[in-house]
Amino acid sequence: MSSNAIVPTDGAPSPSKQAKPAAEGESLYYTKLALRARTKIVSTIGPACCDPERLEALASAGVDVFRLNMAHAGPEAQQEHVDNLRAISNRIGFPIGILADLAGPKIRLGDVHEDRVFCETDQEFFFIEGDTPGGPDEFTCTYKPLVSELSVGDRVMLADGTVALIVEEKLEDRVRVRTVQRGVIRSRQGINLPGVNLSAPAISMTDHQHAEWCAKAGVDYVSLSFVRTPDEVRVLRDILRSNGSKAHVIAKIEKGEALVRLDEIVKNADGIMVARGDLGVEIDVAQMPIEQKRIIDACHRYQKPVIVATQMLDSMHDSLQPKRSEVTDVANAVLDGGDACMLSGETAIGKYPLETVEMMNRICRATESSDVHRIPKLRNIVESATISVVTSAVVKSAGSLARDLGAKLLVVASHSGRTALGLSQQRSSVPVIGVSSSEETLRRMCLYWGVTPLRGAPACDLQELIRYADRWSCRVGLCHKGDRIVIVGGSHLTDGSQANVAISGEHDIITVHEIEGLE
Ligand code: PGA
Ligand code: MN
Repeated sequence: MSSNAIVPTDGAPSPSKQAKPAAEGESLYYTKLALRARTKIVSTIGPACCDPERLEALASAGVDVFRLNMAHAGPEAQQEHVDNLRAISNRIGFPIGILADLAGPKIRLGDVHEDRVFCETDQEFFFIEGDTPGGPDEFTCTYKPLVSELSVGDRVMLADGTVALIVEEKLEDRVRVRTVQRGVIRSRQGINLPGVNLSAPAISMTDHQHAEWCAKAGVDYVSLSFVRTPDEVRVLRDILRSNGSKAHVIAKIEKGEALVRLDEIVKNADGIMVARGDLGVEIDVAQMPIEQKRIIDACHRYQKPVIVATQMLDSMHDSLQPKRSEVTDVANAVLDGGDACMLSGETAIGKYPLETVEMMNRICRATESSDVHRIPKLRNIVESATISVVTSAVVKSAGSLARDLGAKLLVVASHSGRTALGLSQQRSSVPVIGVSSSEETLRRMCLYWGVTPLRGAPACDLQELIRYADRWSCRVGLCHKGDRIVIVGGSHLTDGSQANVAISGEHDIITVHEIEGLE
């Protein structure tokens, strides 16, 4: 089957039927590779999916990275998920990425009267100091200085932007607000203050403690909510490094202030999340689709992976059928050039986590195999890019070589993951297998578009890697005798014939190999 053929999405014959049986202990996951979307799927863990059987079913249905939402559960509960995911990954022989999402300066309502208050248009309420509302017209919040930092005219958005209040008067120990957009609010819901500059630290004491836990738990990615400046990204990275973690830092773009300094933030982060849940409240929601494209384009320029998040298949919380507009949204995120699509409540608390992942996988696959799927504009690569000019040129050539020769497989050997990330940016229609001697690097590849990490391959010696790739690709049914594969490696990959000969300076290797299919 040609790699870019349009594969039927329902009842497609499993490629495993054509494959020779996998060697004992080898992951059967790779025999089903053609059924997995190239766009990565990030899924949020919650009560609806957190038992090990369900997590495994989700991973098998297409989830590449699981998100731990630190705003909803602390280290103790999350550690159990990390342990379960690592055990599942070892059992199935397939790397699974873990992203821990720090709450950042998210402000929440305190308890409201009887847990639920209806705000009628023009009705007056008060934000008060302290923790205890005196009645249904008084609100408290988790950010103590709120009452003193609000000014007349500020907008206070509640319930994901469905309820809007405006500050009308500042009194001694409270502010008076008036409802301009009516609706129901509930205890502990998030508060958004578009355009209001608060003095809240980007990384609270709790975030700091959570980051230390992330380092100890060995998560692969740590994301920071409500990033405003590139410094915040650097501070988080420093905390992680000083705790011995190499985790990559994802900046969540969900504030207008972040859009103003977008390029600097993208440049300093290892990856970006288009966090539309809050972004769509913090800025005019009508501007959000264009900002999504602008953020994704910045990520392409700086060669950083980008996750598109929130409400992608929202109605599947309690329905087996997504809305047409949601299907289009997922497809458009792929067409925009997103590396990954994220599911939040759909998998965390929804009724149909598995069906939702299957649906997302189907939409991504159908979109990727169309001619419309475009390659990110790599022409504008900026000088300070993460990936060296040589590596960028080499992976670009490897991509076109594989296409021109009708190769069945691209194998990328990457020590730090940078060569794999560079190749990912080529959006090659040829399947890409990533190998590395570092398990951490393999797990990080779980977020790289189109790169499937493979454990256990000899990733430092070209001759050994060729032999391994030859046999492995036949065993899992990806290649047959006479097929061509292209192998590309970063500067750590040495040619076995010159073993131990250190070559100074940057060098990358591309090799074309014809499958011999030797057992
Ligand atoms: P959250 O972030 O789910 O942690 O709020 C994502 C978003 O705001 O879209
Ligand atoms: Mn958010």
